[in-house]
Amino acid sequence: MTSHVLVGVDLGGTNLRAAVVDLDGGGRVLAEERAPVGDRTPEAVADLVQTLVERVADGAALRGVGIGFAGMLRGWTGVVANAPNFGWRDVDFRGLLRARLGPSVELYNDLNAIAFGETCFGAARGARDVLCVFVGTGIGAGIVTDGKLTIGASHLAGEFGHMKVVPGGRLCGCGARGCIEAYASGRNLATRARQDLATGKASFGSRRDNPADAVREVSLAVQIAGGAERVHAGHLDEAVRAGDAYACALWGEVAPLLGLAIANAVTLLNPSRVVLGGGVWEGAPRLRELVLAAYQEAVNGPSAEAAVIVATALGDTAGVLGAAALIAAGVIS
Ligand SMILES: [Zn+2]
Repeated sequence: MTSHVLVGVDLGGTNLRAAVVDLDGGGRVLAEERAPVGDRTPEAVADLVQTLVERVADGAALRGVGIGFAGMLRGWTGVVANAPNFGWRDVDFRGLLRARLGPSVELYNDLNAIAFGETCFGAARGARDVLCVFVGTGIGAGIVTDGKLTIGASHLAGEFGHMKVVPGGRLCGCGARGCIEAYASGRNLATRARQDLATGKASFGSRRDNPADAVREVSLAVQIAGGAERVHAGHLDEAVRAGDAYACALWGEVAPLLGLAIANAVTLLNPSRVVLGGGVWEGAPRLRELVLAAYQEAVNGPSAEAAVIVATALGDTAGVLGAAALIAAGVIS
């Protein structure tokens, strides 16, 4: 073990991963520790990060600890402005971590870390201008411009999930209406489908005046999932492939909106590589096809010619490698 180690941490809503990494030679994880996030109070999560980082470092001094965190940060203060997965508002999380691990701890948005990881070591390696969009429990993005992470004036560049696609539309977890996340994120798709299918009443305006029709039309997704309360995006996608009316109508509404949002981002940013991933994206092949068709319809033609669309390459290693690479590159939070 070297005397000074670089540690990358991926702190998502449910799992924590800490890894000692070697950024030379394509990026490698040398040692890693994982744990589920149980108690979500800031102090308990900071304690858990400390435990895992110390365990993975195995007595070596810390050269730096870069943390990719699933939440919105407040400028360069190390304060978490809003983390719906944890129920935090205005928490000085970097302060809690530095009190435990020393001054060389930096906090990054998790999608920024993933995008930087994929750019340095994964699907966008060699590209200078990259857009990385993840459609999972939530929706987020990271942007790399001329080889550098675009962080923004107050650490909020890449908040793709909260771009509006329907003025005055569905309510989002951020408190606003009409965000793409309110339509296409895994959490919102599941919530909406469960509500619709439990009541037999679809929320996209298909008229069902006769309750008997609603019963007869219960979506195949319910059967596939083993109950309306268990339906998620993967079940809906399977139902679409079997021609189910409810699931097809839902995908028919959601896919064009997500395709439009990706197209507008590509038109705005002119990336050479577009990395698409996340649990919903990877688990819903028919949705992917529909979104990519909508993207082609909506994107500016010459922008699309430059933008090669690729799948993620690093899986859940992207976050730890990216967070460590950001701190090694001197990007401070
Ligand atoms: Zn929102």
